[in-house]
Amino acid sequence: MERVNVVIVGAGVVGCATALALAHHHSDVFVVEQLPRPGMLTSTRNSGVIHSGVYYPTGSLKARHCVRGNRLLYEFCAAHGVPHRRTGKVIVASDASETAELDALRRLGEANGVEGLRILDRAALKQREPHVQGVAALEIDSTGIVSSEELVKTLARLAVQHGAHLLLHTRVTRLEPAGTAVRVWMRTGEDSAATEEEVVETRCLVNSAGLFADEVAALLGNTRWRIYPVRGEYCELARSKAHLIAGLVYPLPHPEGLSLGVHFTRTLHGTVLVGPTARYIEDKNDYERDREPVEEFARRAKLLVPEIEPNDLTPAYSGIRPKLVPPGPKPAGKGFADFVIAPDPQFPQVIHLMGIESPGLTAAPSIAEQVREMVAAVLG
Ligand SMILES: Cc1cc2nc3c(=O)[nH]c(=O)nc-3n(C[C@H](O)[C@H](O)[C@H](O)COP(=O)(O)OP(=O)(O)OC[C@H]3O[C@@H](n4cnc5c(N)ncnc54)[C@H](O)[C@@H]3O)c2cc1C
Repeated sequence: MERVNVVIVGAGVVGCATALALAHHHSDVFVVEQLPRPGMLTSTRNSGVIHSGVYYPTGSLKARHCVRGNRLLYEFCAAHGVPHRRTGKVIVASDASETAELDALRRLGEANGVEGLRILDRAALKQREPHVQGVAALEIDSTGIVSSEELVKTLARLAVQHGAHLLLHTRVTRLEPAGTAVRVWMRTGEDSAATEEEVVETRCLVNSAGLFADEVAALLGNTRWRIYPVRGEYCELARSKAHLIAGLVYPLPHPEGLSLGVHFTRTLHGTVLVGPTARYIEDKNDYERDREPVEEFARRAKLLVPEIEPNDLTPAYSGIRPKLVPPGPKPAGKGFADFVIAPDPQFPQVIHLMGIESPGLTAAPSIAEQVREMVAAVLG
């Protein structure tokens, strides 16, 4: 049986960034991806925003990796020609009752090490976003946008150039601890006729399977985590109305911590996305069933931009968040769950990445650094 150093399950943005970080230091790094291309799930079904780190409790992994990831991501995109733009963003208080929350976000951001935060009054907001209705806003300089497709593609290409092996169309189906190693069963091929099964033994396994990371952990008998899929849907604003939004415009985040709220993102192509919504669903593969009507998007969009009407909106793609928090009512602020980046309690040669929801795209290069150190400790 072939023996390798590292197997990473999942070639999303986190798996690819991790593969690149590891390929600089170790030989025999394998990334196993069930789909035909890297990053086909959550990693390219998102807002493509390079977040700053204002939303997360100080000291949390989300705060730490977002703030560091923000800087690393800009550097990476500039060095490797990944399309991106530092746009800045505003979080808008719709009425006076929301201004205290804006100030709390500014203080939280500063405590997290985010620079370039400013409170704008109504006039300054009007100057920046003439069509947005609000009494004040928090302006954030370090937010931007990135092409998530190009980012994942570039990370995967560089990882392979540095010696990592990318196995596409290959699903990890079974795991079995073998002393200090792990046996990994992989099935390659789309249809059963073409299916081939292979087993390798790896000294270290990184579970970066996104929405399915709980199922991968369960292959080792670890049922400690459960991932609850929360779908986020987008609409696209008609080209004729795209001028209503200059940059990135957000409401205050969802009080239960479910999402950042339905926001406006001016994309690198000049189109404007409205969304994502946030709704718990049953099926991790269900991107389309029972989508929210455009009237509901328009209702929320109008709170910030009254000129938007339902017929200005066309349903666009959706993405699914891998939440660690179950559905059901929560007291304000209790909906937060941090990223889990931890060795398996029973098998320290296995590192689990669990609940890597937003800001996972931004955080990926920084998460990869942490995983690289954890892998080095396993390999010795
Ligand atoms: C609606 C939405 C908006 C978002 N907006 C932003 C944003 O603007 N900015 C930001 O920073 N973050 C954002 N995020 C979060 C970000 O997209 C994710 O945190 C990030 O993409 C997670 O990447 P990942 O590699 O962990 O997971 P994934 O992209 O899900 O990759 C996991 C991979 O594992 C593979 N896999 C699973 N099981 C197996 C198996 N058994 N064998 C082989 N392969 C397997 C899957 O096919 C998949 O390709 C958003 C997320 C959503 C849903």
